[in-house]
Amino acid sequence: MTIDQYNFNGKKAIVRVDFNVPLDENGNITDDTRIRGALPTLKKILADGGSLIIMSHMGKPKGKVNPKMSLAQIKDAVAKALGTEVKFAADCAAADKEAAELKPGEVLLLENLRFHPEEEGKPVGIDKEDPGYDAAKKEMKEKQKEFSKKLASYADAYVNDAFGTAHRRHASTAVIADYFDADSKMLGYLMEKEVKAVDNILSDIKRPFTAIMGGSKVSTKIGIIENLMDKVDNLILCGGMTYTFAKALGGNIGKSICEEDKLQLALDIMQKAKEKGVNLVLGVDCVAGDNFSNECNTMVVDCRNIPEGWEGMDAGPKTRELFKGAILPAKTILWNGPAGVFEFDNFTAGSRAIADAVVEATANGAFSLVGGGDSVACINKFGLADKVSYVSTGGGALLEAIEGKVLPGVAAIKG
Ligand code: AMP
Repeated sequence: MTIDQYNFNGKKAIVRVDFNVPLDENGNITDDTRIRGALPTLKKILADGGSLIIMSHMGKPKGKVNPKMSLAQIKDAVAKALGTEVKFAADCAAADKEAAELKPGEVLLLENLRFHPEEEGKPVGIDKEDPGYDAAKKEMKEKQKEFSKKLASYADAYVNDAFGTAHRRHASTAVIADYFDADSKMLGYLMEKEVKAVDNILSDIKRPFTAIMGGSKVSTKIGIIENLMDKVDNLILCGGMTYTFAKALGGNIGKSICEEDKLQLALDIMQKAKEKGVNLVLGVDCVAGDNFSNECNTMVVDCRNIPEGWEGMDAGPKTRELFKGAILPAKTILWNGPAGVFEFDNFTAGSRAIADAVVEATANGAFSLVGGGDSVACINKFGLADKVSYVSTGGGALLEAIEGKVLPGVAAIKG
């Protein structure tokens, strides 16, 4: 079932969205991207003549009620975005009455799902090492089923539009789907778009395919790097992981960020790239700083010859040319992770060179997917988000999908 096929007229739909928006200290929303992202799905249901039950998590309240993470704070913003009044249910697991009274066109927002430990399904107050852990986990899984069944009982149809949590098997993201027939559960528009974007990268590949992996560490990206190795023509590894590679190759890296226990892994990656015929692009020069700040002294040096007391903080001019050379001819591009400490204005040049090249390749017909927390912040900082093919809303979910893992939130609906 797709959302376009389903007619919500006279039906109640329970929709899992990701309204985990950032709030300032007064509870004001500082970035409403996530609310706007869910609007096409929510509006389609209302336009059909259906009623809406919206559910989401906010923050990490760890199974306890925490007013600072109450979704009541965003009720008015949701009402404004939808252009209609929004009712609020102060306990998501006891909203029977509010749900039953909903009329077509009406909207009910449920309180933060994670105020109940059943949402995440992890036993509380017990360590993994404790002897009773397995029994507690089993008991919690049963409670999670009950909780999911309760949420399901409010509605005729279930829609999952929360890509950001699709890699979690939580009550509202996956278990709830067991309580709906195949023809009354579906992905929302945002989820459909995300899944299609990943599919473009993994199966419908136009060549050359260039992947750009940056960020601080190689360890958090190893799964995705290994999966990409079978698919890409060019693999740019940049950002902080540059220096683990430089050290593994016998270089001096001063006080640059480095994962000492990943030196062999770096050599293995290089060997694998060679075996698979992947053009691995690593930094040759960098902009080094004498302390980790925007105002530090800088110099351009060879990545394998960084003086004591200095650290590599951005890609150097030769490296930026190498990036461009691997990105401009590409027809499929994946970018995850900045090439330097882009939060400091003086160290944005490497990430900017990548962004400009990705934009140019996109204008020349490439499909470009930018995703994973910091790369999105980076492309937004440059004001170029609308000049790439797709900016993913998913962090962990996107990375897991590209690693080739099945996302529980998608599998629960598509089987
Ligand atoms: P990640 O969360 O692993 O994607 O890493 C993103 C972070 O990596 C950003 O906050 C960047 O500032 C940081 N980063 C990128 N290059 C470097 C570098 N050369 N040294 C230290 N941090 C870096």
